[in-house]
Amino acid sequence: MAMGMALECDFGSSPEDTIEVHFIDTPTDRLCSKVVFPLNGWMFPYRMGGNVGVVGQAVTAAELRETTERILKDCGERYGGTTARSPVTAHPIPLYPRDRVHSRRTVLIGDAAGFANPFTGEGMSYAFESANLAASAVEGMLRDGKNLDVYAAGCRRRILNDLSSAALLGPILHWLMGKVELSSFFDQVKQNDSIMKACSGIARGESDWRNLLGKMAPRTISYLLLNNRLIRGKA
Ligand SMILES: Cc1cc2nc3c(=O)[nH]c(=O)nc-3n(C[C@H](O)[C@H](O)[C@H](O)COP(=O)(O)OP(=O)(O)OC[C@H]3O[C@@H](n4cnc5c(N)ncnc54)[C@H](O)[C@@H]3O)c2cc1C
Repeated sequence: MAMGMALECDFGSSPEDTIEVHFIDTPTDRLCSKVVFPLNGWMFPYRMGGNVGVVGQAVTAAELRETTERILKDCGERYGGTTARSPVTAHPIPLYPRDRVHSRRTVLIGDAAGFANPFTGEGMSYAFESANLAASAVEGMLRDGKNLDVYAAGCRRRILNDLSSAALLGPILHWLMGKVELSSFFDQVKQNDSIMKACSGIARGESDWRNLLGKMAPRTISYLLLNNRLIRGKA
C-alpha cells in the first residue's frame, strides 16, 4: 500500500488551470525492478482554491503531514496566501492487485480489488471500469446462471494488463528523472507526437498504459543518450 494525504484550501488568487506536480523522493537512487512509489505531491485547482496532497510508500504519517504543509506553504506564496483550509484526510492506496477478485457470490471492485495505478496512484477510472464489469457479471449470473469467472477475465483484459504496463514503466520513469534534465526531457517528450497522443489518450480514457509503454520503452535509451552530457555531470 501507498498512503495518500490531501486537503482543500482557498488561496488569495485562483491558480486557474495550473496543475503542479512536486517530485519529492523522485528520482529513485537506482533502477528498481519492483513497484516503488516515491513521495510525490500535487496541487490541482479545486473550486476557487486548490487540492493539495502527497502520496508515498513506506513513509511515516509525520513525513506525509510535513510534506503536505510544505507544499501548501509553497503554493500559498505563489497564489496570494492560503485564506482557508480543510482538515487533512488520508487513505491507503493499493499498489498491487489482489490474486482473486471474486468468490462464488462476491466480487471485489476498485480499491478493494487492489486496482490503483502503481505509477500515478489514480484509481477512479479502474473503480468505474471494474464496477461496470462486475455489474455485467452479476447480471449474467442472475439471468443465465453464469459463474463470476467472466468478471476476472474482464478485469485481466480491461484493467490488469494496463496496471502491469504502468508497473513496468513507473520504475523506469522514476529513475530516468534523475538521469536527465527534467525540462529538456519534457521538451523532447512533448515533441514526440505518438507519446503525447498516448498520454492524452490515457487522460481521456481512450488509450491505455500498454500503448504508452510500447511508445516510451524503446525511446528510454535515446532519451538517456540525448541527455548524456547531464548523466556524466551527475556520475
Ligand atoms: C489522497 C488521495 C488522492 C487521490 N487522488 C486520485 C486522483 O486524483 N485520481 C484518481 O483517479 N484516484 C485518486 N485516488 C485514488 C481513488 O480515490 C481511489 O482509487 C478510488 O476512490 C477507489 O474507489 P472505490 O469505489 O474502490 O473506493 P472508495 O472511493 O474508497 O469508496 C468506498 C466507499 O465505501 C464506503 N464504506 C467503507 N466501508 C463501508 C461499510 N462497512 N459500509 C458501507 N460503506 C462503507 C466508504 O465510506 C467509501 O465511500 C486518490 C486517493 C487518495 C487517498
